[in-house]
Amino acid sequence: MALHDCDVAVVGGGVAGCTAGMYASRYGLDTLIFGGGLPGGQAALAVRIENYPGFPDGVSGMELAQAVRTQAERMGAELVTAQAMGLSRADDGRWILFSDVGEARAVAVIVATGGRPRKLGIPGEEEFAGAGVSYCATCDGFFFRGEAVAVIGGGNTAIEDALFLSEVCSTVYVVHRRDALRAESYLQERAFARDNIEFVWDSVPVEVVGREQVERVRVRNVKTQADRDLEVKGVFVAIGYEAQTEWLGDYVEREGGFILTNDRMETKSPGLFAAGDVRLTPVRQITTAVGDATVAAYFAYDYLAGFRNR
Ligand code: NAP
Repeated sequence: MALHDCDVAVVGGGVAGCTAGMYASRYGLDTLIFGGGLPGGQAALAVRIENYPGFPDGVSGMELAQAVRTQAERMGAELVTAQAMGLSRADDGRWILFSDVGEARAVAVIVATGGRPRKLGIPGEEEFAGAGVSYCATCDGFFFRGEAVAVIGGGNTAIEDALFLSEVCSTVYVVHRRDALRAESYLQERAFARDNIEFVWDSVPVEVVGREQVERVRVRNVKTQADRDLEVKGVFVAIGYEAQTEWLGDYVEREGGFILTNDRMETKSPGLFAAGDVRLTPVRQITTAVGDATVAAYFAYDYLAGFRNR
């Protein structure tokens, strides 16, 4: 599908974006979804999602993401492979979205671009990206069959990654900067019960070392300052996400890069909404993202009605 002017432009083709697109189309609005990046966003990377309602046996992230995408298209939303790069307000009050494949005008814009993995910022991280350093266990885990690997972080992602990797790797070190995990207790219990997961507490990685591929990661105990080298072939970084929102310029307020909205998902600019992980929110779950998207589409519809009756 080509770019064209529309009622609502949704930026982001993940679960939040497609839910917003699905609702907006159902309201009879001409809706364009800028898919960009990975099909299905971050959710698509999850091996098994066990806490999304309606799937008592769990569902793979890719399956869920694809299903929501198909549902949005069936409702009439159009998905375009375009990366939004900038935004400006036309004289008639509509938004102009600039992308790598051209521009489109929309009365309302819903930003649902999610997050991207946070980097460690240590020597060797960039050098060995794709050569042992990874930000996606489900994408790259199988390259490390039978090898020892390290997972950095103590949140849900890190522990889910460690559990997944422990099924294919010989040893999984979980390197966490504190002595207690942030991950939910059911994940903690499963990880503590695995014989081949070793926790390296109170420690942060300081350098990834190798020749052509990763050979070890040096970690420092933050309490004793003692260094330890972990002999690993893979380093999986799972220290959270950050949002890429610079392209929105001054049209939004941010905190730590995440967009501030009210409870209608409105940003400080009328007609510009945000939903899902890109928003400043205390809980980043698929369930909350689809909730945000529902609210954003509802008030985008409301905004359009007002815009047309001006
Ligand atoms: P997160 O919850 O923000 O956890 C990030 C982890 O990395 C924390 O343990 C943090 O340590 C650590 N960390 C942060 N910066 C670091 C640094 N510079 N160096 C070393 N360690 C660092 O991120 P997440 O696990 O990716 O989860 C993101 C969101 O998605 C959360 O809301 C999570 O609940 C959700 N999620 C849910 C599921 C699920 O429900 N199944 C699965 C995946 C993700 P501290 O603990 O010391 O802060």
